[in-house]
This record gives sequence, structure tokens and C-alpha cells, in this order.
Amino acid sequence: MKNTKHFLFDLSLTELAEIIKTYGEPAYRAKQIYEQIYKKYASSFEKMNGLPKELRRKLYDQFDFSHLTLQIDKLSSDGYTRKILFRLDDGAQIETVLMGYTVRRTACISTQAGCALGCTFCATGQGGLQRNISAGEIVEQVMFFEHLLNKKNEKLTNLVFMGMGEPFANYKAVMKAIDILTDPNGFNFGARRITISTVGIVPMIEKFADEKRQVNLAVSLHAATDELRQSMLPINKRYGLNVLINACRDYVKKTGRRISFEWALIDNVNDTPEQAIALAHLLKGMTAHVNFIPLNPTHGFTGNESKQKRIAKFREILNNAGIANTLRIRRGIDINAGCGQLKQETAENNKIK
Ligand code: SAH
Ligand code: SF4
Repeated sequence: MKNTKHFLFDLSLTELAEIIKTYGEPAYRAKQIYEQIYKKYASSFEKMNGLPKELRRKLYDQFDFSHLTLQIDKLSSDGYTRKILFRLDDGAQIETVLMGYTVRRTACISTQAGCALGCTFCATGQGGLQRNISAGEIVEQVMFFEHLLNKKNEKLTNLVFMGMGEPFANYKAVMKAIDILTDPNGFNFGARRITISTVGIVPMIEKFADEKRQVNLAVSLHAATDELRQSMLPINKRYGLNVLINACRDYVKKTGRRISFEWALIDNVNDTPEQAIALAHLLKGMTAHVNFIPLNPTHGFTGNESKQKRIAKFREILNNAGIANTLRIRRGIDINAGCGQLKQETAENNKIK
């Protein structure tokens, strides 16, 4: 039977208020419930203090409190990375990662169960798309980690939409989730501390630029020539580098915001001096920043991570051209913390059984 209940985390305050109104309750009740969920971290309707018993009963009958069931929970050996595989109501799976450093605690959130875009080096891409997920399924991933941290008197400081899936292929749900998470009446998370990473779906970059949100944008570039990029990221056949970089320049112009580019360094593939020179040329004069990360190994891809010496040479070319860049440390490698890798691991195990 189809589930006809409302899902608590799916609702904006306005939508919740409309439902509560039909119960004959005063308008302020919706705000009270929102506060209980997002400020007081209530773990059940029963624990929502200050609400009449009858209303709590009604909420219990007509609302789902959770759609995420914990399937695997792994902590890396250095203790800094925690990775969760959740099962959704219909059996689809998503991964969420918490990276906890001393000052920053960042949650890496999935925006789809799987991904249809098939980037060759990406574990999620290798598995294909299961389905889009709802705004509430995005919001609940965040609240899951916030609840965990709250027990240690800590809070999430940053959110990155860099888990499974392509955020701009599930645009509406992702933007609704951001609206819910940044609502001052609720969780009130700062938009400037949120980053969306896209593989480069150009019309959606244009739409996003027009919305002029405070949210940061990262674009997965990984190659600076069309030939190489389309051999790694099939989307490049649809939106080539020329249109992509133009859209990025427009974004910077329209929003006045800096743009980040992601680059997974693969030995002898995209870490050559030719690629570095092409990249410097591509980004010349743009308010941009390049984030390098050594490739995370996956089952379906034979490439290796770049060697330190080649990385240093690559970055030297960019530095000389005045292109800001950072080499990120790859954490949680022992728990398969790369995008889509935990799910891949469970699929492998199932095959063996
Ligand atoms: N679909 C979006 C966001 C999810 S992927 C995107 O592609 O941008 C988040 C980041 O992880 C992207 O930059 C992606 O290219 C990168 N990534 C995927 N697989 C990787 C791997 N095996 N090693 C290093 N980075 C990887
Ligand atoms: Fe999808 Fe991003 Fe992985 Fe490409 S890198 S397959 S767009 S999740």
C-alpha cells in the first residue's frame, strides 16, 4: 500500500502551517513544531514539549518522523571520518559522510540515490541511478548528524552536496531542502556555509546564477580539454568546455561570488603539464579556486592517484599563472569514504554470498 502520510522533513513551515490549520489548531502551533524539530532536536512527537496531547497523537498518526534507516555505520581509523549508508523506505540506498575536524564539522550529503551521469572514475556513476530523493530525505541526512553532534555539544559547521548524485539533476528537491535548512524559524543554517557541487549541467548553472543565492558553487572539471574531459565525464559531450566555462564566467559576473573547480588527480591522465597549461588558460581572469584531490580508487576504474612529484609540478604551473588552488587531504580511505563506495562495497558482498 502506498504511504500517504506526510513526511515531517519534507515540509516548509508554510506547508506545515497549512496542514496544522486543517486540524483547527492556532497558527503558532506550526512554528512550535518547527522549533521542536530544528532547534530542540525532538526525537519523537511524544517528546515535543508544549504541544497538546491530542495534537501530538494526530501528528503521530498522520506524519512520518523518519524515512532513513541506518544500514552501515563506519568510523575511519583516524577517527575523523564517519560514513553512514542509509536505506530508504523503498530499498534505495544513500550515503552520508561526516568529516569532523577540530574547527570544521562538515556533512557530505547525497542528493540522489545513485547517479545517471556515469563519470568513469566515480563509484556512484558506475552503479547508475536508483531514483531521485525528496527534499525531506536530504534534510534528514543533515539532521541525523546534527543530532549525533548535539550529544557532544557540537554542531555542524558546513554542508557540502558532494555525496551520491548530481544536485542539478534533482534541482527542485535540493533547493527546497536548502530553503528548509536555512529557514530562520527552524534550523537557520547559514547559506554561505553550504556548497553545491555540479558536474556541469549548464542550463541549471544559469538558473542557479539567476537565483542569486548565498550558497557556494563548485564545478567538477577534472580535465581542461574536451577530448580528455568527455572520456571521463560523458556529460561533456552535451555541454562542452566552452559553454561550461562561459556559464561559469556568467555566474561569477551575476552573483559576484567566487567559483570552485574540483579536480581529481589521476596518474598520467589529467596531471600532465599540458593539462595544467590548458587549465590555467581556461580559468584566466576568473574569480576562481581549484580544489585538487588525489583520486580515490574504485572497483570499476583502473586509474591510480597521482604521485606527489607530478602534483607539485602541476600546481607550480598553476601558481605561476596566478590561479589559486588547494590540495585537499583524502580522508577516510580505509572506510571507502569516497562518493558511492560504501554502497559498491555492499553490492560486492551480496554478489559473493
Ligand atoms: N555529482 C556532483 C556531486 C557529487 S560527486 C559532481 O559530480 O560534482 C562529488 C565530487 O567527488 C565530484 O567532484 C566528483 O567528481 C568527485 N569524485 C567522484 N569520484 C571520485 C573519485 N573516485 N576520486 C576522487 N574524487 C571523486
Ligand atoms: Fe554523478 Fe558526480 Fe559521480 Fe559524475 S562524479 S557520476 S555526476 S555523482
